[in-house]
Amino acid sequence: SLAEKSFKYVIVGGGIVAGYAAREFAKQGVKPGELAIISKEAVAPYERPALSKAYLFPEGTARLPGFHVCVEVEERGSFLNGISLILSTEIVKADISSKTLISAAAETFKFQILIIATGSTVIRLSDFGVQGADAKNIFYLREIDDADKLVEAIKAKKNGKAVVVGVGYIGLELSAALRVNNVDSTMVYPEPWCSKLKIFTASIAAFYEGYYANKGIKIIKGTVAVGFGTNEKINVKLKDGRVLEADIVVVGVGGKPLLTLFKGQVEEEKGGIKTDAFFKTSVPNVYAVGDVATFPLKLYGEMRRVEHVDHARKSAEQAVKAIFASEQGKSVDEYDYLPFYSRAFDLSWQFYGDNVGDTVLFGDSSPTSTTHKFGSYWIKDGKVVGAFLESGTPEENKAIAKVARVQHLAQNLDKLATEVLTFARNI
Ligand code: FAD
Repeated sequence: SLAEKSFKYVIVGGGIVAGYAAREFAKQGVKPGELAIISKEAVAPYERPALSKAYLFPEGTARLPGFHVCVEVEERGSFLNGISLILSTEIVKADISSKTLISAAAETFKFQILIIATGSTVIRLSDFGVQGADAKNIFYLREIDDADKLVEAIKAKKNGKAVVVGVGYIGLELSAALRVNNVDSTMVYPEPWCSKLKIFTASIAAFYEGYYANKGIKIIKGTVAVGFGTNEKINVKLKDGRVLEADIVVVGVGGKPLLTLFKGQVEEEKGGIKTDAFFKTSVPNVYAVGDVATFPLKLYGEMRRVEHVDHARKSAEQAVKAIFASEQGKSVDEYDYLPFYSRAFDLSWQFYGDNVGDTVLFGDSSPTSTTHKFGSYWIKDGKVVGAFLESGTPEENKAIAKVARVQHLAQNLDKLATEVLTFARNI
């Protein structure tokens, strides 16, 4: 029989949360042998966002160990002294009441305190019953293995044609990445504009559409892929009857949190595992952190689930601090998160706050603008609740964060539109 391994703390999942939690555990003085990270991936935690960006660049390419979460330590060949990193190990069964996890290879892991950090998985076209959607050369992107397969295909199909299905952030980033690799790329999506990019207003989306079109990316709107036929090439059948020929198809139609292991064992809310402001679930000694957690967003007084890297990092730190504090009979402040999203490709934007209410656009949002400096505010009940800025300086980004955090009064919308950055800096 396989030996049973036992740890004081177990993190299931080896992504962003695991990496930042490990770092915080080390800071808090975790003892050798106390903590295990169990991951189905074959590599230590890394900065996942790089996979749709520098990992795919033909120049200045990012490769491990360059973007591990704990690079310093990785390079010395050990993962943060005394933390057990159990890789290529998928947990297939979790029994919280007996504090047991079982892997695909039938190993048993016992824990006293569990951190659920399984993140998200991609939604597949086969989930919607699209015909032929599991064909070879149809790619998805979530983990480094997926990125490696895509890199190989890009190399093998040099100067080929790609169709990118879906226009979430991943779709946009992938079309741009394919383009810089000299792959002719066409984006196909049903929405009239990039409405999948939830925070983008029509004007913001129009900028990115125009910008990418100017870079030679083709856009087919208002239809969806309904099937794939494969011979040497893939035939992408569109709902409107057209057929596009492609060497590579990349699908980015969204993600969903991975909760199945814990179904019926922890309370859920809004599609995630329900937690308090310390990421404790409904079960004592079980925490849920990152993409899987639905937590109280104090600033807006409601429960939210957030699938972004900044929250994954901060919620990991919060949970570990809370665990150590409670062991010492102390407490930490409630999580008080200001939603923050950013993307950097050849352009780079930041968003803070909430995208509700009316919007005010400012700056030069023409796709041919030389500065690309523009942004938008969201105004609700006379207050600025959200702020978006493309190509801002670090100082300007800090300023818009402050506007969204203090929910500054917006008395005069016209003035706001013309003097926004000054307005932001003066708060
Ligand atoms: P993950 O980082 O997904 O980690 C989950 C881990 O759990 C993985 O290692 C997985 O293999 C493992 N796992 C799952 N199930 C099991 C199991 N049963 N047994 C063992 N291990 C398991 N966000 C931004 O804000 N900005 C960006 O620019 C950005 N770019 C992105 C680009 C890409 C390509 C992707 C995929 C995501 C991007 N995101 C971005 C989102 C961000 O990466 C996620 O929000 C973040 O990774 C969530 O962290 P997590 O630890 O909760 O989950």
